[in-house]
Amino acid sequence: MMSALMQTYARLPVTFSHGEGVYLFDTEGRRYLDGISGIGVNALGHAHPAVTAAITQQADKLVHSSNLYRISTQETLANSLTKLAGMDNVFFGNSGAEANEAAIKLARLHGHDQGIKQPAIVVLEGAFHGRTLATLSATGNRKIQAGFEPLVGGFIRAPANDIEALRQIANNNPDVVAFLAEPIQGESGVNVLDTDYLLAAREICSAHNWLLMLDEVQTGNGRTGSPFACQGVGLQADVITTAKGLGNGVPIGACMARGHAASILGAGQHGSTFGGNPLACAAGLAVLDTIAKDSLCANAANMGELIKDVLQAELRDNHRVRDIRGRGLMIGIQLHRDCGELVAQGLDAGLLINVAGGSTVRLLPPLVINEQESRELAAGVAALIRNFN
Ligand SMILES: *Cc1c(COP(=O)(O)O)cnc(C)c1O
Repeated sequence: MMSALMQTYARLPVTFSHGEGVYLFDTEGRRYLDGISGIGVNALGHAHPAVTAAITQQADKLVHSSNLYRISTQETLANSLTKLAGMDNVFFGNSGAEANEAAIKLARLHGHDQGIKQPAIVVLEGAFHGRTLATLSATGNRKIQAGFEPLVGGFIRAPANDIEALRQIANNNPDVVAFLAEPIQGESGVNVLDTDYLLAAREICSAHNWLLMLDEVQTGNGRTGSPFACQGVGLQADVITTAKGLGNGVPIGACMARGHAASILGAGQHGSTFGGNPLACAAGLAVLDTIAKDSLCANAANMGELIKDVLQAELRDNHRVRDIRGRGLMIGIQLHRDCGELVAQGLDAGLLINVAGGSTVRLLPPLVINEQESRELAAGVAALIRNFN
């Protein structure tokens, strides 16, 4: 039956009724191991008691008041999140794209403050920053942009991991005000940016007064084994955006800033009706508390290594596999050819996985996954790939 929904998604023929931990159950009662967490959102898995308690208790008191007034849960979450990320302050929106929009606006203001009338932001090939007009313009994927021209201007595209190209842009474009990148490109296939590249980009940013802005919408909140991926490689950003895992499914996005960048956006220059409302912030606080209390960053690092070890052992001699990579619980298994069919085959086998960039199986399991579940996931994925032809 056709629904009244706009047909913007190619959906798989399954409906989930409930979940528990790393498992989801469909309306027929079938159980699935969740290797994708609603695209990196359900960091604590499904129906985590700490999140359930936080949002039910908050709903019982106050769901929304407005940013016309002070919101104590928002202030508490701001303190926890910025402390965790090593940043100074934060603006809350409702999604990853909105977090990036805030960063883009902040960068443009940074330019105008210095008299740069046409400020430009350097973005990378293969980047994904969202689906709003500015963020799809920043995205390095023509499929996402096609049909939505005119694109938003003010973005300069650079190849990833090419520091010479970045240096050339710096030498030739006095209007650049910021560099925006995902430390690990998720949507284009779990492409880990070289640490040397990121650290050299930091130097270029500092030398040219560019803001180093990291899109950690997917890599943040413990996903890669450190609270934020930049911390895992000793990289200090001026702006960090995040969203996905922060609310465990309750919509929330955050744009954090540090140092001079933290004083750029002033009163009346940005806003959101829903952003940082009491309900979303209660969920965010429960997530951050649980990540700390249950050492989920360390668990993500350990379980990620275990999953990669099992995959490597099981797929070592497999001619279909080109590369196994990633950090923490953000893992990509790149095959030699496109493998979108694996998603439906996984579903049949009771395994929820995703394919990114055409040929890379992407795993983003909940950070609460234990050793036995990690082995089950890795063995299941390896079997799928072995049987793929
Ligand atoms: C998912 C994602 C976004 C967009 O987030 P939405 O919540 O869908 O707007 C932006 N950047 C990255 C790196 C993402 O993975």
